[in-house]
Amino acid sequence: MSSNGQKIMEWSERLAQYSEPHWAEKNQLTCTYLTPAHLQTAREIKSLMNEAGFDEVSTDAVGNIVGVYRAASSSSSSGSSIADATATVKTLMTGSHYDTVRNGGKYDGRLGILIPIACVAELVRQQRRLSYDFEVVCFSEEEGQRFRATFLASGALTGDFDPSWLDQQDAEGVTMRSAMQAAGLPGDLTEIIKLKRDPEKYIGFVEAHIEQGPVLFEGGIALGVVTSINAGVRAICKVTGTAAHAGTTPMTMREDALLAAAEISLMAEKRALQDEGSVATVGQMQVPGGSINVIPGECLFSLDMRAPFDGQRDALVADILAQAQSIASRRGVKFECTETMRASAAPSNLKLQERWERAVKSVGQPVFKLNSGAGHDAMKLHTIMPQAMLFVRGGNRGISHNPMEIISQEDATLATQAFMALLDDIETHPFS
Ligand SMILES: [Zn+2]
Repeated sequence: MSSNGQKIMEWSERLAQYSEPHWAEKNQLTCTYLTPAHLQTAREIKSLMNEAGFDEVSTDAVGNIVGVYRAASSSSSSGSSIADATATVKTLMTGSHYDTVRNGGKYDGRLGILIPIACVAELVRQQRRLSYDFEVVCFSEEEGQRFRATFLASGALTGDFDPSWLDQQDAEGVTMRSAMQAAGLPGDLTEIIKLKRDPEKYIGFVEAHIEQGPVLFEGGIALGVVTSINAGVRAICKVTGTAAHAGTTPMTMREDALLAAAEISLMAEKRALQDEGSVATVGQMQVPGGSINVIPGECLFSLDMRAPFDGQRDALVADILAQAQSIASRRGVKFECTETMRASAAPSNLKLQERWERAVKSVGQPVFKLNSGAGHDAMKLHTIMPQAMLFVRGGNRGISHNPMEIISQEDATLATQAFMALLDDIETHPFS
């Protein structure tokens, strides 16, 4: 098993060689939905899966690469036992995404594809079959970079593909439908609808992912068991004050929109700090048409608020918005807020989470639990089946969505061992 980490490091480099031209020139990795670099990455993943010894490797209607390693009882390619066996044999699904953000890292998403491929290679080497089918889905799109559709790939599996996305255009005016057709996909809604999985056939969904944060790194811990994927709300806020002369208006007689927005940002920070696991971020702020000698009359800013559970998130959002109103009225400005996104928390299925805990313990690592601040494909699968995630420590203080994203070979080995232990755990203690 010691070479699995090395294999994963090599495979990561193999996938990272395909980057979009403008970025490739600068030695940066950008792989967005259905671009030539993305299609080459998909081909490379397919050959990795075939080399590993999957029984079936195919591309589905949204560009996901799906590999299946058949259970012992359904593995024979001939004979009448298949029909009987498929009625009872369930499937464990895993997977993650292979698209990247612009100038992203090599492990975000891809690690969760390469670890299970290494596991299948290991099972093949041991000439072993599991008592359940093992399905590895390499999601084509998660980052929402080329089109403004998030989780379109995992959403297709849960029946959440929005038909209007097909007509959405990228920055060059290419619709998703024609991008799909150019990539050899049908670009047809009826084919996409067919991808919806029947939860009855599944044990559940597990996903390994680089943490994308500093918690494991700072704690000196290689693996983390995820308890919940955070709930989130995003909003665009607008403060309207009065633009006035910066020289002649006394400090006590101003209605400064930017200062109100600044005070609201600091308040949001303070409020989030009161909770365990809540975060609030103002990532964008602008004074439209602002001048050096004019008191800001208007200020636009974004608010991103997340918490491990829906109730905690709702309380966080309600408090921040109420306090924003009182700051605004004290300062004599108007505060308006439009919600642009609301996602429910995805708490891990406890039984599946406990399997990860046992798996981590069995490879000699401490069981460390944490919640996920970032969204993941598991969040989508959560809507139809039990799910639980494993986090792998990132180096460089866990930086991600950045070329400095890194993992160690040792951690990749440990993560693969833990994944194998999880497969064994489901084998020896089937779900009742
Ligand atoms: Zn990711």
